[in-house]
Amino acid sequence: MKKKMTSAEIIEMTKKHIMETYAPLPVVLTRGKGVWVWDIEGKKYLDMLSCYSALSHGHCHPRILKTLIAQAKTLSNVSRAFYNDQMGLFCKELAEFCGFPRVLPMNTGAEAVEKAIKIARKWGYVVKGVPKNQAEIIVCENNFHGRTITVISFSSESSYKEYFGPHTPGFHIIPYGDTQALEKTINQNTVGFLVEPIQGEGGVIIPPEGYLKGAKEICEKHNVLFMLDEIQTGLGRCGKRFAYEYEDAKPDILILGKALGAGVGIISAVLCSEKVGDILKPGEDGSTFSGSPLSCAVAREGLRVLVEEKLTEKSYELGNYFLAKLKEIKTPYAKEIRGRGLFIATEIKPEYGDARSFCEKLWHTGLLCKETHFKNIRFAPPLIIKKKEIDWALKRIEKVLTEPVK
Ligand SMILES: *Cc1c(COP(=O)(O)O)cnc(C)c1O
Repeated sequence: MKKKMTSAEIIEMTKKHIMETYAPLPVVLTRGKGVWVWDIEGKKYLDMLSCYSALSHGHCHPRILKTLIAQAKTLSNVSRAFYNDQMGLFCKELAEFCGFPRVLPMNTGAEAVEKAIKIARKWGYVVKGVPKNQAEIIVCENNFHGRTITVISFSSESSYKEYFGPHTPGFHIIPYGDTQALEKTINQNTVGFLVEPIQGEGGVIIPPEGYLKGAKEICEKHNVLFMLDEIQTGLGRCGKRFAYEYEDAKPDILILGKALGAGVGIISAVLCSEKVGDILKPGEDGSTFSGSPLSCAVAREGLRVLVEEKLTEKSYELGNYFLAKLKEIKTPYAKEIRGRGLFIATEIKPEYGDARSFCEKLWHTGLLCKETHFKNIRFAPPLIIKKKEIDWALKRIEKVLTEPVK
């Protein structure tokens, strides 16, 4: 019998062949259940990243698995050249869940952002009357909307874009949380304002109270589409179905991804309000795998599980509990601890270096965390987490945040 490879051997093999676009922790995962994952040596960890919030339902949720297997045996992919029942039901149910009349199904988050930009631009030309090729979209500093060429063109992070020009024109970057800057930057060619209700990859940055509502009002006043990227914050992650509900700032365009696939499906969506309507016509957009029966079936079950298992309410309650307990830890290292629902970050003081070294220590205690924007440890477990599992994690976090650094 062939000897089982060790973690070190798999890492070496991987590094030899993969384009190394990530700097992962040196752990090789092979199995998951609920909030737990195991490496190939059999060591168990609590998953505090949940696939960048795509895994709200946890690993191998029995209902999601059952749906996946049943649909895989029935019909997987047919493309958009034909209708399929699962896509129709998915669009209807997602539209009702979100309270928007129209859905464009896509695959990944960045793609959905791209499509939202296409929709806003075309709306600008055919509805608002902006002269052809003059449409402008306003975005925020420190944003994260994905990694395609157009999306990185309006990133403020130099490593995302430095070697990848020429960049796509038509974007203005303004400070996050600043409604005055928004109003000042809008001109007659502005078609949309694209923003995250809480900046996720930027470090779980919560804007000042009233920001989203204020931004929405300014957009309305100037006939500009208010576009929210809730790819990471949406679907219960922040303790409400959508983070905008904290301010009742429903957008004209809502972008979803990540947890929409319930940890299994690769599916995203652009939701359009009445004001935007059915803007793209046959021939103007497409994607081979979009609306796949397999992803749509899983996403439908994911929405039902989210509601029936009260994952949003759990995120709210356990998020408050987790945040309060984190704040009780007497740590010399934290500059700030902030979050909404089960979307929490501990910002490390600059004199203690990157959050990465803390993530490595947490890993040794059995917690898998990923730093965001160098200085933050992010805590975003699956929303199915139980209080006693949070307590298990808190013990380890307290140890790492109170022991000497060296
Ligand atoms: C992850 C993320 C994206 C990109 O999604 P991908 O599926 O990785 O392309 C876009 N916007 C936000 C806010 C995200 O967190």
